[in-house]
Amino acid sequence: MTGPGDALLEVEHLAKRFGGVTAVDDCSFTVEAGTITALIGPNGSGKTTVFNLITGYLRADSGRISFGGRTYARPDPAALYRRGLSRTFQQARVFPELTVLDNLIVAAGHRWRALFGPRHSRADVERAGGLLDEFGLAGHADEPARELSYGQRKLLEFASVLMSEPRLILLDEPTAGVNPVLIEAMERHVRGRHASGVTFLIVEHDMNLVMRLCDPVIVLDRGTRIAAGPPDAVRADPAVLDAYLGG
Ligand code: ADP
Ligand code: MG
Repeated sequence: MTGPGDALLEVEHLAKRFGGVTAVDDCSFTVEAGTITALIGPNGSGKTTVFNLITGYLRADSGRISFGGRTYARPDPAALYRRGLSRTFQQARVFPELTVLDNLIVAAGHRWRALFGPRHSRADVERAGGLLDEFGLAGHADEPARELSYGQRKLLEFASVLMSEPRLILLDEPTAGVNPVLIEAMERHVRGRHASGVTFLIVEHDMNLVMRLCDPVIVLDRGTRIAAGPPDAVRADPAVLDAYLGG
């Protein structure tokens, strides 16, 4: 078991190059259980690449991660998902032709059941219905997901990752391009799930939101961690100001 204060996720010396570009460079940090941790940094500082390395969507050149006490030199998205690590994408990934409800059902990930059993388990349908209510999407349950607004798709993606009852959720820019009402909803859902025990690592560009929602805050610049700590300390750190203003 991992309790508050323990390292739920450890990122150790990750590195990734794309041709001549060093996107992530000897990057190490820890996400403690029970936190809403922010990962911030200027555009192109490697935040999304770090998410892709942690979750196994990209293969690191070197380094490793530990999640829930297990070490992975080659993380695999499906294996991590089953062990309780889920993520969203900067460009929300939903199945546009599936209904909103079915997007949640398939996210439950009982593939054997889809193949061999009744298509939808009663428990999954109930769980999905509860999430649609919670996320204000119940009225769209039977529409194809492509009918949703951009912000609603982001909410649907967030709801989808909750079908697997994750312990750690990585959100990549959950509020980018989302209207203020849905930004508030997003914040409320993060707080609610955090209160029920989920740990978050959030890439977020809205500094007001970061400062009121997240602690600690980790700052990347050119693929490396340059600061980490409580929001007030990070905000006052000259190296952080330099990274954002220095270009
Ligand atoms: P952030 O999410 O912080 O904006 P990214 O992780 O997306 O940063 O990008 C970090 C750097 O790696 C940037 O210079 C970007 O152009 C480069 N990069 C990211 N993904 C790729 C890729 N698939 N191929 C080539 N370069 C990439
Ligand atoms: Mg990014």
